[in-house]
Amino acid sequence: MELENIIKLDKKHYMNTFGDRMPVSFTRGQGMFLYNTKGEKYTDFFAGIAVNALGYSHPEFVSALKEQIEKIIHTSSLYYIENQAKLAEMISKISCCDKVFFANSGAEANEGAIKLAKMYQYKKESGRTEIISLINSFHGRTLATLTATGQEKFHKPFYPLPEGFKYAPLNDFEAFANTASNKTAAVIVELIQGEGGVIEADREYIKKVYDFCHENDIVFIVDEIQTGIGRTGKMFAYEHFGIEPDVFTLAKALGGGVPIGAVCAKDKYCAFSPGDHGTTFGGNPLATAAGLSVLSIIKKEQLVENAEKQGAYLISQLQKTDGVKAVRGKGLMIGAELEIAPKQ
Ligand code: PLP
Repeated sequence: MELENIIKLDKKHYMNTFGDRMPVSFTRGQGMFLYNTKGEKYTDFFAGIAVNALGYSHPEFVSALKEQIEKIIHTSSLYYIENQAKLAEMISKISCCDKVFFANSGAEANEGAIKLAKMYQYKKESGRTEIISLINSFHGRTLATLTATGQEKFHKPFYPLPEGFKYAPLNDFEAFANTASNKTAAVIVELIQGEGGVIEADREYIKKVYDFCHENDIVFIVDEIQTGIGRTGKMFAYEHFGIEPDVFTLAKALGGGVPIGAVCAKDKYCAFSPGDHGTTFGGNPLATAAGLSVLSIIKKEQLVENAEKQGAYLISQLQKTDGVKAVRGKGLMIGAELEIAPKQ
């Protein structure tokens, strides 16, 4: 289909939540390159919003998916699913968590993590029901996760929002401690704020918040949806901070483009009983085959180490580049602040 016809069809029938999109549509990808409807080649720096960690059409990934599609795509989690059990085991082996619940997206994983923390406190009868998140954060678009998102602009049209969310400024421990109370159930943080502009949390600050949480049995949740699966030069960003979250969430790169999210928790915090939470699609045979393949290729091709190496090179070059005011981030999660020349 020609681009003009795709645009016409889209404008008529697709609910526009993305504004005027780039006037391009891609029909195939290979490695780091994308090809548009006319067969023109683009170098991709965007990776589908931090999703395509293997690039496009990785042969081993494609054949793992084909093989799974030919066997079975979906069964429902009412039955045991081999890939689901294996992917949960693999994530537990490479991280600090003991158990995993699979969802379909980042927002859904964070929604699950918030529910898990609330369930933990409910079962303890602690009376702690509130969630603290950080100003300028982004945690998703469901009602609870957009409320946890510490940016007014996402809140306004949806008032009244779910109750029990509080906000603290990043990297200010005193302000955090003043926001916390005997009602605080959990804290959710991005260790490097992604959507907020690649803003890094301070190691000392995170350590203090983490210790405070543990002194008060507040659940410490790390949103690793952008930072996880090697993006920052470590498999998980929390490894840069010398902490082990009680709960962390994954999505984006975990499925290499096949939708999947994950709530990963230490045993102590696995508070869900049957019926407390659920999903139709989450962790189905296809999505978990994708996750298994992504993690196996990342390991085999040492892509985490590569993200660290390429990121260090890119940062060093950006720092020497005219017009770049500041460079932030870790590994291949990099933000460059540009000097914008005043308009003539
Ligand atoms: N959390 C973070 C840190 C994100 O960057 C995003 C998406 O950009 C989300 C959550 C929401 O993920 P999804 O769009 O898959 O729901």
